[in-house]
Amino acid sequence: MHELPPGRRPCIAHRASRIAHRASRIAHRPSCASCISYSRYPCIAVSKKLCIAVSKTPCIDPSPPSIDLFHLLPPSIVIPRRFALLAAVAFSTAFSAAASPLHAQAIATTYRAAADSLIDAALKDSAAWNRLAKLTDTFGNRLSGSRSLENAIDWALAEMKKDGLENVRGEPAMVPHWVRGEESLALVSPRSAPLRMLGLGGSIATPKRGITAPVIVVGSFDELTSRAADAKGKIVLFDVPFTSYRETVAYRVGGASAAAKVGAVAALVRSVTPMSFRTPHTGNMRYDSTVAKIPTAAVTVEDALMMRRMLDRGDKVVVTLKMNARTLAPAPSRNVVAEVRGSEKPDEVVVISGHFDSWDVGQGAMDDGGGAVAAWEAVRLMKQLGLRPRRTVRVVLWTNEENGGAGGKAYRDAHRADVDKHLLAIESDNGVFKPRGVAFTGTDSATAVIREVARLLDRISAGGVAADGGGSDIEPLMTLGVPGMSPDVDESRYFWYHHTEADTMDKLDPHEVALCVATMAVMAYVVADMPAPLPHGSRPARPL
Ligand SMILES: [Zn+2]
Repeated sequence: MHELPPGRRPCIAHRASRIAHRASRIAHRPSCASCISYSRYPCIAVSKKLCIAVSKTPCIDPSPPSIDLFHLLPPSIVIPRRFALLAAVAFSTAFSAAASPLHAQAIATTYRAAADSLIDAALKDSAAWNRLAKLTDTFGNRLSGSRSLENAIDWALAEMKKDGLENVRGEPAMVPHWVRGEESLALVSPRSAPLRMLGLGGSIATPKRGITAPVIVVGSFDELTSRAADAKGKIVLFDVPFTSYRETVAYRVGGASAAAKVGAVAALVRSVTPMSFRTPHTGNMRYDSTVAKIPTAAVTVEDALMMRRMLDRGDKVVVTLKMNARTLAPAPSRNVVAEVRGSEKPDEVVVISGHFDSWDVGQGAMDDGGGAVAAWEAVRLMKQLGLRPRRTVRVVLWTNEENGGAGGKAYRDAHRADVDKHLLAIESDNGVFKPRGVAFTGTDSATAVIREVARLLDRISAGGVAADGGGSDIEPLMTLGVPGMSPDVDESRYFWYHHTEADTMDKLDPHEVALCVATMAVMAYVVADMPAPLPHGSRPARPL
């Protein structure tokens, strides 16, 4: 990849700057890193003016094809030191702004062919969708602590070795082990009927006979506070319409403890979704350690609305909740890790990832088998196409995103000494639907570079760069300053199926999955190969 194209060789200015760079022993400064790159790249149009200005030597030189002249030059090449320093200063000025038009044009020119080859390879068939189908049909859903997750991890490690990926390994993480057990919810009054429900991850069990109690319905935490006296001894139903996931999920996560604070005996939460076919949505919850733990479960939107109507009419609503959930001792699991090693700076890393665990319902196809397989496929395509970037691209299939985040934390702890060498962490966990581009969290100068890289995705209408990229598994790295990115996809259907029995392969379109693969592959490859390292600097991505 780093050979010079036919008929071109580095110009004098580039060589000079490289030598000055060595002489001053200032390595890897962004302003100089461009020089390093361009010394290995053709003197393309962007640098022509500068080369002529500095050295009076034309950039384009009909040298023999594919010879990197710089590397044939003896270190003692006779270039006066003063001239060399001058050249270095000139280059520093020209390339100091990472997003300068010169730099932008250089990215587009230098990486067009590689980007196109990754896009073409991703779109030529349904390989990613097929691999995802194999994963989900063979192993089903993959909750932390389950045999199915560990079997799927063993399979992925074996397949990655077959793919020819390097340093394939499972990196250990201890994960929470919650088991749903038998569970049910039944309407007792004003009529008898079974209700669809899913216990929330982390919930305690009910007594064996269940909890039978009257229901009160509230639409917000504030309403619960104002009706605190009514809630004592009751089952609180949080009937909160979906606004955004980030906002509405607060009731799933914190509803049980809020209800316990006012003396409730159990909490039910309207499923966090904008669309329902009477499908309950599970998900994680957390207990506040200062109040009693009470059992908690999700009900369907339809049943929440029905109970509200009954109560509004003055009916007394009574239900029986039975849950046999257990929290066992933490279990050993692994992050699946594999690499395409960098050709020049293998210690510097771009992480590309999705989480391999899922909830214990459906197939975990969309959340997040799709993201994990898309990241894996992106790296496989680099390997298949012989695209070896300067720095390492490391695919990580995280364990335990859903109910603990132990995989992301274990990775941060194991690689803490190398965090500064992580240039970028990418995570796909919003579904592998049609991408508009990427979302990115980083400094302004890094964002400007990412905008230019993303233009390589314009041909598949995925060249946009939005704010607030990230994901919960890469958040531990982002908190330490690693820029974070996620594909910016059409999420309009994501929360319809999220954490439900309906999260299955048929909801995913092979072409859209392939577009996600292409988007992740191009971003990861170019950032890993760019001459200048992406500037560090980030902030926490998003709350749970
Ligand atoms: Zn997820």
